Amino acid sequence: MLPSHIKALILDMDGVLWKSDAPIGDLPAIFQRIRARGLKFAFATNNGTKTPEEYRQKLASLGVEVDASQIVTSALGLAFLLGRTYPPGTKVFVIGGNGVRAALSGQGFEILPLERAPEAQAFVMGIDREITFQKVAEATLLVRNGVPFYATNDDKTFPTPRGEIPGAGAWLSVITTATGVKPAVAGKPSPSLMELALERLGARKEETLVVGDRLETDIAAGQAAGCPTALVLSGVSTREQAEAWTPKIDLIASDLSELVS
Ligand SMILES: [Mg+2]
Repeated sequence: MLPSHIKALILDMDGVLWKSDAPIGDLPAIFQRIRARGLKFAFATNNGTKTPEEYRQKLASLGVEVDASQIVTSALGLAFLLGRTYPPGTKVFVIGGNGVRAALSGQGFEILPLERAPEAQAFVMGIDREITFQKVAEATLLVRNGVPFYATNDDKTFPTPRGEIPGAGAWLSVITTATGVKPAVAGKPSPSLMELALERLGARKEETLVVGDRLETDIAAGQAAGCPTALVLSGVSTREQAEAWTPKIDLIASDLSELVS
């Protein structure tokens, strides 16, 4: 079903490869087909709480061997975005987990401890399982003082096997309510994660198909980056929603297996 001009894929993970940890289809066979067609591929996820290495291990446990450099997260997208504006050594206050901290350190930024938060030149927010009143208070003071405000993603919820729990977007709303300031967002639907994936793939946008299960994030990001897009119906969005979406989506498939068949 893939048009012949497609040379590379940027794949979302949750809702495309697995749902609540259960694989969608025969993943080893699907990736064998992708490799047999000579397609390059990368993975792009708004979930910045895990590192690429942790995703590599998860994929390996499902029988798909990839290199960690093929995986981009919103945390890496954020470090990429910040790296365009700020030099290494810039002091950053972070409310977020290991994923975002590792990505920012990797880019050479100095991550400030809570007691030095007032020195921050930028503030970054993602999901932080150890969020406290004190952290939020310091962040609010920074943003109200005009310090630039960035976020890994603004997904309202985060999927777990028991259902949806507050996502980064829900936590961001505390700061946006207290300050009236909205953050610059690295994750989908912003195109910066796609641009990072294209750079890693060494692929041209016209030849790279962005595949996802959610219209407002995956498809919107792919379109914003100028890539052709494919929606799979194995996750969040439905065919009816996809057919009503503008600009038009290039391909709609029941799942990844059908898309690369
Ligand atoms: Mg998804």
